[in-house]
Amino acid sequence: MEQLVTSQFKLGIIAGGQLGKMLALAASNWDIKTYILDPKEDCPASTICTHFIKGNYLDYDTVYEFGKKVDMITFDIENINIDALIKLKAEGKKIFPEPEILKVIQDKGSQKEFYQKHQIPTSKFQLLNSKEEILNALSNKSIRIPFVQKLRTSGYDGKGVETIRSKQAIAKLMEGNSLIEEMVDIDKEIAVIVARNTKGEIKTFPTVEMEFNSTVNLVERLICPANINEQIDKEAQAIAKQIIESFKMTGILAVELFVTKKGEVLVNEIAPRPHNSGHHTIESCITSQYEQHLRAILGFSLGDTSIKIPSVMINLLGEQNYSGDVKYEGLTECMAINGIKIHIYGKRETKPFRKMGHVTVLDHSIDSAKEKAKKVSSILKVKSWN
Ligand code: ADP
Repeated sequence: MEQLVTSQFKLGIIAGGQLGKMLALAASNWDIKTYILDPKEDCPASTICTHFIKGNYLDYDTVYEFGKKVDMITFDIENINIDALIKLKAEGKKIFPEPEILKVIQDKGSQKEFYQKHQIPTSKFQLLNSKEEILNALSNKSIRIPFVQKLRTSGYDGKGVETIRSKQAIAKLMEGNSLIEEMVDIDKEIAVIVARNTKGEIKTFPTVEMEFNSTVNLVERLICPANINEQIDKEAQAIAKQIIESFKMTGILAVELFVTKKGEVLVNEIAPRPHNSGHHTIESCITSQYEQHLRAILGFSLGDTSIKIPSVMINLLGEQNYSGDVKYEGLTECMAINGIKIHIYGKRETKPFRKMGHVTVLDHSIDSAKEKAKKVSSILKVKSWN
């Protein structure tokens, strides 16, 4: 594999958001040349990659031509043109994670069918094709309130998800091919990042706990390690390994899970790429999720995922009521706090709740890290100049 790094090895990364940027940064440590495809010239990864190619990653020809320029392709988002990737793979291009797996995961319905087929614990569900079918299912009582409607494709960060808790909430139903899930009585939301390399070696990162912002469905705080008992931790870790093994997937896979009030562990959803729930690994673990992804797809041994120091990660979201050219308030004050690692993604414009950066707070005590994180949240604000 040595020839893959150094010299002229070209890694194509589809999309240049913050995840692509952090992946390109990890790749630069090994002198890998990174080629980024993104429609926005000023995307976060554009200043870090070796080559930037402007283009729409949903377009077949654009993805196909991009693929021809590089030695290997990976991606930092799921919503990309898979047909072009499948064609490139048939022509011998190395693509990790494998595009056929991405096809299953892109569709929340087929994702659930996969769990069912492989006896991976998940909430009960039905697949329905329209709002009308959902209303019919409600009237013939094959589904009952409360339930969750998820559009099968193109949802993200809570968009395309509606929780229906009352008869009045039926008005919120969305039109489209839907996954209808039984409402889970959630105690905690946790995540496990797992990697599998080209030789089939598998390693997980320590389980993290996610706390969501209740207004928008975005992670507000990520706590590593999660405050869960050993049994739940074991189950979560085993489920993550079972999923990546069942897919025989190469690369990094983020597995989001629910711990129910009864203490069951259920898979919510998965993402075959570096993930928001792994940001803390850059400073908190011996190997970052980005380095691990590269190790996995390049066929190296997987790195040590042990925690160096516990952490609390907070997303820096655009403040409500501010849109336009970004300005950050409170940076100087935050830099003075011990153990604070600030990541600014470099997005030129802010919007309410847009992910503009994150801060990882390192501390030997989680309680003290939480206190510092609270302080950072109150000081550091993402606003606009106008
Ligand atoms: P997205 O892909 O947009 O992140 P998710 O499927 O993760 O959407 O759902 C967003 C959030 O909705 C979850 O983090 C969880 O809080 C809630 N949720 C999703 N599915 C269920 C469910 N079956 N029962 C209860 N809450 C759910």
